[in-house]
Amino acid sequence: MKPELLEIALMGRKILRQVAEPVPVEEIESEEMQKLIKDLTFTMEKKDGLGLAAPQVFKSLRIFVVNAMDAGDGNYPQIFINPRVKPIGNKKKRGYDGCLSLPGLYGYTRRYNKVKVSYLNEQGEKLSGIFSNLMARVIQHEFDHLEGVLWIDRVDSNDDIYCKGVKRE
Ligand SMILES: [Zn+2]
Repeated sequence: MKPELLEIALMGRKILRQVAEPVPVEEIESEEMQKLIKDLTFTMEKKDGLGLAAPQVFKSLRIFVVNAMDAGDGNYPQIFINPRVKPIGNKKKRGYDGCLSLPGLYGYTRRYNKVKVSYLNEQGEKLSGIFSNLMARVIQHEFDHLEGVLWIDRVDSNDDIYCKGVKRE
């Protein structure tokens, strides 16, 4: 079956502010869930996103996909189901944030440099990994979506939010 381009929920939609439901392990290999994972990945790639979470396509489920390439080996895109994210150390780095649900807006947030993630993959296998830099940043952004949090909630100041094309003063 051909993957489908899904509609993205834009800021203002309630689903983006809800805590997403865990995926029942026995449902991961179901046709419906496998299709959602494929469509989610396809939509992320078509929209040039670094990541996409299920609530962003109107599914309140704890799944996200990540397309960040700087994490060394491994296959990308990577699927995270029912993830748990733990910071390693307390060092946070200021970095760039943007989101397909807030088109045209960019900004700076502080996120942990390094995180440990425990999760299930698309076959329902239990995995864990340590991620740093861009991959860690994208994972924290996507995990926030599962908790109903958006990047604009994480800025130190409203001065850190700006529109596409605006030069930073
Ligand atoms: Zn986002």
